[in-house]
Amino acid sequence: MRLVDTHAHVDELIDLDGAIERARIKGVTAVVAVGASLAVNTKILEIAQEHPDFIYPAIGIHPAEAEAASDEALRFIDENADACAAIGEIGLDYSYRVDKDLQKAVFKKMLEVAERHDKPVSLHSRYAWDEVLSCVLDKEIRRGVFHWYTGPLETLEKILDCGYLVSATPAIEYSMKHREAIERAAVESILLETDTPVKYRGVTSEPSHVIRVADAVAEIKNLTVKRLAEITTSNACKLFGLQF
Ligand SMILES: [Zn+2]
Repeated sequence: MRLVDTHAHVDELIDLDGAIERARIKGVTAVVAVGASLAVNTKILEIAQEHPDFIYPAIGIHPAEAEAASDEALRFIDENADACAAIGEIGLDYSYRVDKDLQKAVFKKMLEVAERHDKPVSLHSRYAWDEVLSCVLDKEIRRGVFHWYTGPLETLEKILDCGYLVSATPAIEYSMKHREAIERAAVESILLETDTPVKYRGVTSEPSHVIRVADAVAEIKNLTVKRLAEITTSNACKLFGLQF
């Protein structure tokens, strides 16, 4: 069985090598490591270089980091985008105390980078689901994933109709909002992820936990976990251009 953790902040793992080893044992064959700021993006590229064909980098400015989006930070992303699987984590989050207009301005610049380099996007859209969708449509970004989707089902329908994907996290085990979204999406539109090192019910996550997400989604979709892994891994390979 082959699994892909399509969204992990691996720079925040205390024992990265151990986590990679445990992930491999569980059948994880690739991890998309998402960036957030200039410092994190730099680290992500280094980590990816140390773990070729396992850690695939994505770089971007996370909405929480919008205030730190200096020219230097933006230039770094533009210069390194071609070496990445995606631009991310980018988007909007209206629960943050970061100015919304600033978030939007930075997000739009990130979408322009994605367009220029023909890269898919890994999207953070909490409490700004419609806004994020209209931004990606505006910029004519065709390929992307709304990570850990918990928004309204009407917006989800539009997201899926436009051909975007959604990703499931370990919160699938207890969050009704998240479960509902994954129930609604066709399996061809679903990716698996952990958002490592986010804590779910008090437990710090790592990429090996993507197996729990696979089990939960397989049950929802009434598929064997093996079949679910095949489909979602193929979805991830198509979106991010992974080859293994
Ligand atoms: Zn994240």
